[in-house]
Amino acid sequence: MDIRLGNGFDVHRFEEGDHVILCGIRIPYSKKLNGHSDADVAMHAVTDAIYGALADGDIGQHFPPSDPQWKGADSAVFLKHAVGLAAERGYQISNIDCTIICELPKIGPHAAQMRAQMADLMGLDTDQVSVKATTSETLGFTGRGEGIASLATAALCKP
Ligand code: MG
Repeated sequence: MDIRLGNGFDVHRFEEGDHVILCGIRIPYSKKLNGHSDADVAMHAVTDAIYGALADGDIGQHFPPSDPQWKGADSAVFLKHAVGLAAERGYQISNIDCTIICELPKIGPHAAQMRAQMADLMGLDTDQVSVKATTSETLGFTGRGEGIASLATAALCKP
């Protein structure tokens, strides 16, 4: 069996706002994430993990931030593109593991909904998708509440 792993990492900074979008779920918060698209930092990390497993560049190469058509884009478009590319090449996604690093907003109450949304977008069962969170113990930019970081692993297999 041909098994491939990929990792993804992303960061977006906070700016003034009233909600963030993480794994496609809108979470009310006193700030929003700055970005060319909807700034879904978690979905970007997952998308990059899939591109990484395919050894096919990164999200910025497939969807250049300089291209005005991706302004405000729903990041589901990016994720679905990566999933489609995997399928085109004969790979199934075995599982996804995504970690969100921030002090606030609290991720726990939304994690189940995030998993369900990501699984739905990728055509996977929810037990194939993990969404978890940690803080950085008030250290660094995530600890100071300046932004959110996310990292992800994707495992792909060709039966
Ligand atoms: Mg990003």
